[in-house]
Amino acid sequence: MKTAPPSQRKAKYCNYCDNTGIIHNPHFSELGENALAPCPKCVIAKCTCGGEDPFYIFRDGKIEECFCRETRMKILKINAIYNRCGINRKYRWKRLNDYKSVNKQAEDAKNTAYEIVTRFPDVRKGLFLWGNAGTGKTLLSSIILTELIIRHAVEGRFISISRNLFKTLQESFHEGSETYGESGRIEKELADVDILVVDDFGIQKDTEWKQETLYDLVDARYEAEKFTIFTSNNNPHKSFKDLSQGRILSRIKEMCRILEISGDDYRDRL
Ligand SMILES: [Zn+2]
Ligand SMILES: [Zn+2]
Repeated sequence: MKTAPPSQRKAKYCNYCDNTGIIHNPHFSELGENALAPCPKCVIAKCTCGGEDPFYIFRDGKIEECFCRETRMKILKINAIYNRCGINRKYRWKRLNDYKSVNKQAEDAKNTAYEIVTRFPDVRKGLFLWGNAGTGKTLLSSIILTELIIRHAVEGRFISISRNLFKTLQESFHEGSETYGESGRIEKELADVDILVVDDFGIQKDTEWKQETLYDLVDARYEAEKFTIFTSNNNPHKSFKDLSQGRILSRIKEMCRILEISGDDYRDRL
């Protein structure tokens, strides 16, 4: 059977929700509501279960799925993934519209981000964003992760090298810590997750353990062809040249588009 081209196929949802069935309320936190909701125009309009879990209805003597069920189950899944993804509190639920590009480099990075989130999983390369502090790299990488989770319901993690990666791993070697003996599990999880954001990439050259840990992570992501985003305050071409005998830089070049975002401190404008 021939499939009609997208333009002729009857859309299940509507333009108001970008044909996703889901809308995002940017003011949800002030209103005490959930960030995501079923589209009122195309999903709620056809819902007869009253939004009651597990979203079934009784019709003509039998029980069947309410029209809203698929959308509501997807929202529950997205929320569960989002709650464990580790995005910094102040960047949670930020969308591409929230990123105001302040110069040409930032505009290019935003366009690349848009391309990634709309084409995923058909994306060949990850992203390496570098530039001076305060240019919105962490915000933009958080946004890309949020968009990918909302649009595709894929599993993702956000880790900060300086804030939590090494600390978590080091703790896992301390008897009595909550994660004792789990370094292998933690590293495997980071190697396997569909999307990984590694914020604040860069380390002191004198710590071989850290260099090897980072190389192993980068290499595992590379081998598994997993989508990875890095942010860094350092120019990778210069700073990572000698790291792990250049092996980290060579992997990053193969697996990422390297984009610079430099300029004034973005945070001053927020
Ligand atoms: Zn709709
Ligand atoms: Zn319903």
